[in-house]
Formats: sequence, structure tokens, C-alpha cells
Amino acid sequence: MKVTIIQQLENNIFTAIFVDESTFKATIKYLPSELLEYKTQEEFCKEEAINLYFTTKYQFIIYALPANVTIDKLRRKICTAISTANQQKVEVLQIVCLQPANIQEVESLGITLGELPYLCNYQFLKYKREAKEANTLQEIRILTDVPNVAVLVAQGEKLGNAVCIARDWVNEPPNVLNAVTLAQSLVEAGEKYGFKVEVFDKNKIQELKMGGLLAVNRGSKTPPTFSILEYKPQNALNQQPIVLVGKGITFDTGGLSLKPTTGSMDSMKSDMAGAAAVGATFIAIASNQLPYYVVGLVPATDNRPAEDAYTPNDVITMYDGTTVEVLNTDAEGRMILADALSFAKQYNPAIVIDLATLTGSAAMAVGTNAIVMCATADRKVVDKLIEAGYRVHERLVELPLWEDYKEMLKSDIADMKNIGGKYAGAITAAKFLEHFTNYPWVHLDIAGPAFLEKPDSYRGKNATGVGVRLLYEFIRNYQV
Ligand SMILES: [Zn+2]
Repeated sequence: MKVTIIQQLENNIFTAIFVDESTFKATIKYLPSELLEYKTQEEFCKEEAINLYFTTKYQFIIYALPANVTIDKLRRKICTAISTANQQKVEVLQIVCLQPANIQEVESLGITLGELPYLCNYQFLKYKREAKEANTLQEIRILTDVPNVAVLVAQGEKLGNAVCIARDWVNEPPNVLNAVTLAQSLVEAGEKYGFKVEVFDKNKIQELKMGGLLAVNRGSKTPPTFSILEYKPQNALNQQPIVLVGKGITFDTGGLSLKPTTGSMDSMKSDMAGAAAVGATFIAIASNQLPYYVVGLVPATDNRPAEDAYTPNDVITMYDGTTVEVLNTDAEGRMILADALSFAKQYNPAIVIDLATLTGSAAMAVGTNAIVMCATADRKVVDKLIEAGYRVHERLVELPLWEDYKEMLKSDIADMKNIGGKYAGAITAAKFLEHFTNYPWVHLDIAGPAFLEKPDSYRGKNATGVGVRLLYEFIRNYQV
């Protein structure tokens, strides 16, 4: 995708124009006057109107923005224009989008103009022998009055590219992307975009006694990996790192506590969406050279039933020495995350944020439209993350970490058991993880929005890459 900033429109190029009452006067000067003879400003700006002008000389679509337009409504409108351009089989799209008075987040607007061409044009066609449905669009030219637009659009492009890589990782089938190839692709991304990646193999993981990761891996023929990502620019503003932890279950059958296929196991290649989000966030921050020290931890394995698979009633000794009674092998995400969260202690982190497609319970609570959050970090920091979530429209819904919920994890024979029970599953999973932390911590359960069965505007269909834009926005505005 090529994205350029333009000052003038060219005739004979498919052009999408976005107007509301505040931008109408400034926008019409870019239009050929004969197009404006038929209609009044009110008619152009009537809520949600789409006005088409197609002649041999002109191909304009004018989208009226709704009153009180928000940045996310604008994103969705622009995405409609990008789809329409592809339906029309054009290769170049011009976009005219001046800043509506209602949208004050001028930086977010500039960044989104850069990211949307990537997010909305994304396809995963690698395994189609004939890509008949391949998008035709190759170039988007943007005309806008957003200040500093070239810098912001360039930043948005790199972010959009990173989100697409997260989507690729999640969309890859599990017979291609396993714990070993995931670690390899993280190493390759590090070399390409400028961050360090060290991968612990099975021997090292055994030496470290990461009991949770090893237990889940017992049913797999592919060895586990534990990847450590580090981005530490010379001009880093923080001494204590931000640590990101991503759940990397490359396929989750449930193990011996086998999942049913329909509506459950059949999308479980997405169970490494947290790992993908962490890897892609590194791509976004390194390619934009953000001045912050960030560490990433990605424990990875698949979870399968097999002769030696870990078993309900097993007692596992975790990396930090905690004993855990397994009662459901499908609660494996917390087993591998717990070891990574314990491992994070050695960094003396300013904050640790984990991302995981952790519980069906989180998806049941908020659907595909939000992320469930639990947090022990300082309120000021948590509020910053919540605000970042609103700006990028990856919104957070907070659930409590009250002590009573820990009662539900009491085991008869070990320090804890790995499931709580029928109710409050998203919270008891977080309570389990909290046990392995001793630093400011935020847990993000992305089980709902990570993978969509139906297309949704710029989030696309299947892998969404959720978490990357949120973390990037949070780190970009991070205050030490
Ligand atoms: Zn599971």
C-alpha cells in the first residue's frame, strides 16, 4: 500500500469526500463547480447521505458525516469508501478529509488516516491458489488540513503495518505456525524492525523449571518456546521497563478436557492472539522509534491430548514454586502466563501488561466489542490505558480483583487449583494470575475481540490484531 499526502485533486481518479457542516465550505473548493449546481449545503450534509457523481471526467462519492461525528464513526466511513473503491476495481483512491469541528483528537485523526489504508485493505489470501477476490487498491492519496499530517500519517502507516502482521500471525494455520515457528518469526521481525529477541528452547525452559509451560506442552510433539523481546533505545525516557506478556497457545484443543469443535475449537488458532499483539506492538514502537524501554515475554506451546498430556488432578510445580492442582486442562493459558509473570519480576518493571485470549467468560460478558481488564496498577496509569482505549476504539471494561474471588481457587491438596468454577470465570482467571505478580499489573482478556466470525469495518474478518493499537497509543503517551 502506498499512501501519499496531496494538496490538489486530480481529475479522473476515484475520490471519496467526507463532509459535515463544519467542513463543508472548506471542502467544496476542491470540487468542480458544476458538481455543486444541483444541491444545497443542507442536502449534501444531510445525515448519512452518500452522493455519487460519476461521469467520464469525475468519479466522486461524497459521504455526509453524522452530526456529532466521532473519530470512530469517521474511521468506519472511510473504511466504507475503501471497500467501495475495491468494488469499483480502482487502483488509486483520493480521500478528502478535513478535520470536523467535532473531532478534537487531532493526533489520533492524523494517525488514523495513515493506518486505515492498511487496516481496511487487509486480506489473508496466502493459501488461495487463485486470488480472484484480491483487492485492486494500491495507492491512497490524502488531502487534509490536519496539522503535521505527513509525520502523523507516516506513524499511522507503520502502526497499520504492524497490526496487519499481528493479523497474519493469528490467521496462519496451526500446522504452519507453532511454538517454534512463532519464535522464529519474532526473531525475524526483531532483525527487520530493530529490537532484540532471545528464544529459550525446551532445554532452557526445563533448566529454569517453568512447570506451567512444560505441563501444557506435554501433549505436544512440538517443543515449547519462551521468547524475550527487548527494545531499549539509547534515548529511553524510562529506566524501569514496561513489560508486555502475550499468551502464545498456537492451538488449543483443550487438551484432555477436550473442547467441542463447533463454535469452540474451530477458531483456536487464535489462542496466540496475545502473543501476536505483543510481537506486533514491538514492530510498531521500534519502527516508529518511540523513546521507551519495553520488554516482551511470549511463552508458547500448543495444547493437545496425548499419551503423556497433562491431566486433571495433576499437581504442577510452577516456575516460582507455587503448586497448582489441575482440574481442567483447557485452563492452560493461565498455566503458561503464570510462569511468564513470575519471570517478569526480575526486570523490576514499572508496569506489566498481559494480553490473553484467556476466558470464554470474558467474551460472554462483553462480546467482540471490548476487552476485559483487571488491574492492580496505580489508578492514574490505568486511567491512561482506559483513555487510550477510547481513542483507538479498543475499549476496556474493568472487572474487580476482590479477595473473595480467591476463595474459589482453593485446592484440597495444592496451593491453588487452576479453575474457579462455573461463575465469574474471567475474574477467577485474573485472580489466579495475580498470585504470580508483585508489581503494578494490568491484565487484558482479549478473548472477545481477537477473532471475528463476521467482518466488521476496519477490524476486518477473522484476526483483528486487537491490542496493538491500544498498547501503541498507551506507550506513545507514556509518562515516566
Ligand atoms: Zn484453553
